[in-house]
Amino acid sequence: MDQIKIVLKSGKEQSILRYHPWIFSGAIKKIHGDPQEGDIVYIYDNNDNYLAVGHYQPSSIAVRILSFENVIPDVAFFKEKIKRAIEYRTKTGIIGNPDLNVFRLVHGEGDGLPGLIVDFYNGVAVIQIHSVGFYRIRHDIAAILIELMKDKIFAVFDKSESTIPYMSGIKAKNEFISGYSDPLVVTENGYKFKIDWTTGQKTGFFIDQRENRKLLQSFSEGKKVLNMFGYTGGFSVYAMENASMVHTVDSSSSAIELADENIKLNYRDNSRHQSFQVDAFEYLNNIKDKYDLIVLDPPAFAKHNRSLDNALQGYKRLNMKAIEQILPGGIIFTFSCSQVVTKENFRKSVFAAAANTGRSVRVLYQMSQPLDHPINIYHPESEYLKGLVIYVE
Ligand code: SAH
Repeated sequence: MDQIKIVLKSGKEQSILRYHPWIFSGAIKKIHGDPQEGDIVYIYDNNDNYLAVGHYQPSSIAVRILSFENVIPDVAFFKEKIKRAIEYRTKTGIIGNPDLNVFRLVHGEGDGLPGLIVDFYNGVAVIQIHSVGFYRIRHDIAAILIELMKDKIFAVFDKSESTIPYMSGIKAKNEFISGYSDPLVVTENGYKFKIDWTTGQKTGFFIDQRENRKLLQSFSEGKKVLNMFGYTGGFSVYAMENASMVHTVDSSSSAIELADENIKLNYRDNSRHQSFQVDAFEYLNNIKDKYDLIVLDPPAFAKHNRSLDNALQGYKRLNMKAIEQILPGGIIFTFSCSQVVTKENFRKSVFAAAANTGRSVRVLYQMSQPLDHPINIYHPESEYLKGLVIYVE
């Protein structure tokens, strides 16, 4: 089959020369051939110099780059890339840590594999695919994972139903594509969590908050803690170790059930914990207890640039409520996981929230994502999770 060649407009090769892994449709001058969504395409500059190879998608991000070298992305190519992702996590102490059997094994652009996410849950790999290119080779990816982690992975679950581009027309099904497992229990920093990839959000667990949960614990001794948007109760489980009281709030009943179950898994005496199935703003508007430690970890308020302004307003309103409510000398862990909200924009929202309350606020820590969610230095967008720990006088 002839290679499909895409030629960029003059000057539009600059970002590729700086290894940015996306090509926007507006940068394309000419397409030689008739690429279908998911096809491998080869990128050239306006002077016919080879630049990169990637997966084609007829959308605003038209190509996701797989390599800047002149290679054919075959099974051996993907095997090598996944091998490097495993090696990176072994060298950095994620794989092989006896207190940890839940981590991200492949983090899209962060591991040079745009469109592919693989999370590891104590022997089960859950893959989440965002491009048709990877969807077509999902069985190869599963086979590679099992081959490279023979003694560790016994089942691969594909959870791409809601992440495959809708316009592609592909009706992806969430299903095991290799082996099988019932929901199981994983260990994170020694704490146990029940994972249900079938019904859970994302691949079943928010693995990216691991380090921030530990940091929260270092502040929770004897405190009254409110975990807003608690989901499976990650922050609550850590806080229960030493807090005097922990409240978990989430609007989803299945999340609350999971949070309660996870507290029970870790603590025989769970009388210090209570959970509430209620909307976050409603809870904050009618707050009964006073807290000295509050976690705000809402879902992404903005999925696209066009909703950015509304999202920033949302973060401002939410943080304002918490800053107003918290006891003097209280601490707030506040997050944004929206990729389109930059660190600076998020900080401005929290600043605006603080200014509206007039309370004195100090920034104690700036938080990010853990190293199994690596940030590709050439792709600033991969730094999606940002958070601040603030002290409110
Ligand atoms: N902090 C969690 C992850 C939070 S994900 C962790 O560490 O695992 C965001 C959560 O917010 C989801 O569980 C979702 O059900 C909940 N949520 C979304 N909108 C909400 C709202 N308006 N009020 C309360 N919870 C909400």
